[in-house]
Amino acid sequence: MACACHAKSRKTRVVKAGRFAIGGSNPVSVQSMCNTDTRDLKATVDQIRRLEEAGCEIIRVAVPDMQAASNLGRIKRAISIPLVADIHFDWRLAVESVRQGVDKVRINPGNIGERDKVKEVVKACKSAGVPIRIGVNAGSLKALKDNPKPAWQPYDWARLMVKEALDEVRALERFGFRDIVVSLKADDIERTVMANVLFSEKSDIPLHLGVTEAGSFLAGTVKSSLGIGLLLSQGIGDTVRVSLTEDPAMQVRAAYEILKSLGLRSYGPDLVSCPTCGRCQVNVGKVIHELEDRIYSNRGLREKSEGMKIAVMGCVVNGPGEARSADFGVAGGKGRGIWIEKGKQIKVIKESEWVNEVIRKIRSSK
Ligand code: SF4
Repeated sequence: MACACHAKSRKTRVVKAGRFAIGGSNPVSVQSMCNTDTRDLKATVDQIRRLEEAGCEIIRVAVPDMQAASNLGRIKRAISIPLVADIHFDWRLAVESVRQGVDKVRINPGNIGERDKVKEVVKACKSAGVPIRIGVNAGSLKALKDNPKPAWQPYDWARLMVKEALDEVRALERFGFRDIVVSLKADDIERTVMANVLFSEKSDIPLHLGVTEAGSFLAGTVKSSLGIGLLLSQGIGDTVRVSLTEDPAMQVRAAYEILKSLGLRSYGPDLVSCPTCGRCQVNVGKVIHELEDRIYSNRGLREKSEGMKIAVMGCVVNGPGEARSADFGVAGGKGRGIWIEKGKQIKVIKESEWVNEVIRKIRSSK
């Protein structure tokens, strides 16, 4: 898709998490965070493997205590994407996470403690070649400790978020550490966008984008799409995490849909379906959801169908016409439908076979 924001315009420094590069001219990457208990090895590894199939490129896990930290090595060995330890409050958890072999550490300057604690984390990361993300959240700014109910305007919030991020960046750089990623998140678009724009004017550090606590699937996806989309469309942002109160696999899909709609990444097929109307006598919604679940939860199918246009239309009045521009698809009748390839009507198939037929067609395509 041609689009004004097609290329990432802000040139950032490159930071490596394991073999994976963030920043520079690398594509904007997609990450997510497990919602399993990190102490539960099987549940966490199972979820990460499922997310890998969905296209997740970097995965973060919560490290609330030493038991969780001590599981990280085994988790890392069981997965194939970079593992990030999410640390709050206790610097020792960060040091243990690095010892366990994680690929990146996220710390929150608002709660990690004094500089000498941060220095210990930096020392460990530096000797292991592990980058640090400084994750600033509006809700846990240091400035809130002195002023818990501030009357700040959004711009004041954004400036403070940037100031706290840059203070931390400078502290890390004074320790001779440069492998830094920054995130500046608020739970609204205005502060998130302002903070990231301000930061990008002052630093070449790669930005991890996200709107924090964005909400339910629909509300959160809309909010994240706007916030992340506004930044990406200005060439700002190197890696993306969509926060939703939802299965993390849906967060991965939402992130890709944002990148796909801006022409920054490709992801699976272009699935086209009609909104249905009074003429429809098949369950288009069920078919499209089943197709999405089958394709996006399977790396092979997702990759094989990349760039294909597949149509599922509700009726034969407008369906065949609307499906003409698709590579293949189906237009419904009553419990059955016409299978169409490149605009040609090929055969009639039962509604119960539509999903399988699309999957067979993807598998058999060259
Ligand atoms: S394709 Fe048919 S069922 Fe779907 S919206 Fe158009 S007219 Fe209605």
